[in-house]
Order: sequence, then C-alpha cells, then structure tokens
Amino acid sequence: MKEKIKHLEKELEAASMIDESFLSHEIRAVGFKCTRCARCCTSDHGDNIVAVFPFEIRKICENTGIKAEDIVIPTPSLDKDKEGNIHTFEWVIRNDGDCIFLKNSLCKIYEWRPYICKTYPFYLQEGNLMISECDGIGEPISLEESQKLAAMLKERYITEIKESILLFQKFRGFRPGGKGICVHDSEGEHWIKIEPGTIIGN
Ligand code: SF4
Repeated sequence: MKEKIKHLEKELEAASMIDESFLSHEIRAVGFKCTRCARCCTSDHGDNIVAVFPFEIRKICENTGIKAEDIVIPTPSLDKDKEGNIHTFEWVIRNDGDCIFLKNSLCKIYEWRPYICKTYPFYLQEGNLMISECDGIGEPISLEESQKLAAMLKERYITEIKESILLFQKFRGFRPGGKGICVHDSEGEHWIKIEPGTIIGN
C-alpha cells in the first residue's frame, strides 16, 4: 500500500504541473461541442457508470434534499471477504439504463453534476488527454471554452489522485466486519445492506 501511495504522490506532483494552455491547445485541435443529445447520460455509450466521490454525493444531497442512498449505489463488484461479504471501491449514480437525473434529455442536477459529467468526453490518464465516444468530437471549440475545459480537467485529475491517496491511506483490506456490502472510499469503510448493481426506477 505504501508503494501505491508513493506512486500516487508522484502522480499528484506531476499533475499539479500540467500546462493548462497546452491542454487547452490539444482540446482545440481535437474539437468539441456538446450537441445536447444526452447520450452520455444513457446506456447508448456503454455501461453508463457515473462514478462519484463522497464530497460530490454530499453536494447533490445538500442541493436536492435527496438522501444519499437514493442517489448512489456501491460500484458493482465481485470481490468478497472470507465471510462472503462483498467489498467495493467508491460509488456510482443510480441508473436504470439512463441516469436517474436525466429528465427530458436534461440533467436535473446540472449545477452540481460530478466532475466526470462536467468534463465528458475528456479525461486525463497519466497526464495524457483521453477521449470517450461522443458525437460532439471534431466540432469547433472557442479558446475560452477550451481553456475552461482544460482547467476543469486538471482540477478533476488532481481531485481523483487526492481521493485515491486518501482511500489507500484508510484502506485496511477486505476485512469482515459488518454484514452485506462494504464500500471503501476516501472517507473509510461504509457497511450497507443493498446489493451492488441495484437498479431503481425514476
Ligand atoms: S448527473 Fe446529469 S450529466 Fe451526469 S450522467 Fe446524470 S444526467 Fe447526465
């Protein structure tokens, strides 16, 4: 675990030095304009897994009044401890194919949507710009928009690394302790009773 944390700390250092103007230049070269098709919020582009950090869940709860258990489920997992309890890392927004917050092709929590949604279809991996499937790719983007996106991508990347460091600092292995599912995140262990992959309706 110590090695993993050390590696992440180095990644964090490198992430803090990412040149936003270069990133913005790369985004402009690729081109992107959201066509508002909302396909990225549905199963059209794969499993529609929207990962969320604890602080993002709290922000959505505070602004919508919805309870956390009605917003997220544990990330689906097959990992078990010796007593048969399931262990998983982090949370995902509930969906029934479409994200539960998608209504009439609009995001009902647009202002408080998680980083992954704010930066779609882009993300950074080992500091490199990666692109997910999206019909808006290749469309012209203004300098201002590409700069905003670059700043958000860097912020997301740094946050992801910090959350991973915290998670590994708190992680004590797949220990039996409660009954059901144990979610490991940056705030520790959370034992709950619902099944991973539970699907709820709108
Ligand atoms: S939170 Fe909003 S933007 Fe993100 S997948 Fe759900 S509906 Fe789409």
